[in-house]
Amino acid sequence: MFNTKKFLIPLLVIFFFNFIFLVLESKTENELNIYSGRKSHLIEPLIKEFERSKKIKINIITGKSDEFIERLKLEGNNTKADILLTTDIARLSRAKKNNLFEKVNSKILQKNIPSKYTSKDKDWFGFSIRARPIIFSKERVDINDLKNYEELANKKWKKKICMRSSTNVYNQSLIAYMVLNLGEKKTEDWIKNLVNNFARKPYGGDRDQIKAIAYGECDITVANTYYLANMINSKNKKDRDAAKKVSIFWPNQKNFGTHINLSGAGVIKGTKNYKNAVIFLEFLSSKKAQEIYSKNINEYSIRDDVLTSKTVSKFGKFKANDTKLEEIGKKIKISIYLASKHNWR
Ligand code: FE
Repeated sequence: MFNTKKFLIPLLVIFFFNFIFLVLESKTENELNIYSGRKSHLIEPLIKEFERSKKIKINIITGKSDEFIERLKLEGNNTKADILLTTDIARLSRAKKNNLFEKVNSKILQKNIPSKYTSKDKDWFGFSIRARPIIFSKERVDINDLKNYEELANKKWKKKICMRSSTNVYNQSLIAYMVLNLGEKKTEDWIKNLVNNFARKPYGGDRDQIKAIAYGECDITVANTYYLANMINSKNKKDRDAAKKVSIFWPNQKNFGTHINLSGAGVIKGTKNYKNAVIFLEFLSSKKAQEIYSKNINEYSIRDDVLTSKTVSKFGKFKANDTKLEEIGKKIKISIYLASKHNWR
């Protein structure tokens, strides 16, 4: 006769030990280490949602992307980092150039992210779009006098323009966009004349340029839209009042489109956590995560099915220059050179 006891008990024992083994293994595996060039308060809602839904714990270190790139180069194969998150294409390109990213084959990423927002080699992925239009004084500038970035170099704007430093990567990317679309020579002339129109020495961040317009120090700047959106919704009355004094103009709608940048991420080469790292990137491209980018951070989604936040949608629709994004990283070096040559400090 068939002895069930004889078979069942060993089976149960095997099952039990396998179960214990799986639990222990997943306990050590279910963590992910991220180096983030994005500020922690900005990505916290994304991290919380990820940990809750995927049951994977995230350890995050925030800091400057460039410093993380140097650190990753030094750490080499011994790095504990699984993912690098950055706020712009220039840093993604730099990390790639230093061979820090692993190629990722993911049908989900390919489906969720249009190819223009990822590297050709599929080793970094854009997760949010940041637009950098012209912002101007409602009182002192007639919107009909604005046309494109090129025109900001016109003498009529002498002492009217505030720009943050060219040591900032957002402006380096803006100059790189000009080089890509106008060529080096025209961009160099543009920088020279634009610097001549500065109302003051470059100082502060994007928000400070917007405030400078509100306080009458200058009339025009170029800044990322989410800074203005966050000022509009700020708890600080001074920020809200300053935001009321300015408006957005979408430049270059009749030629190559407004300059945009991407925040993005890549999986670190040699990670022992490849699977979870990919799960994290796939999560960032999901509708749920993209809604957090849009709602909480006021950035533009990489997905067509995610609406912009209420505040940002009031800025209106625009044509973006989105066909050569990966090329921007390749023009950063020349951009830095041209800016410093013409004293855009
Ligand atoms: Fe920013």
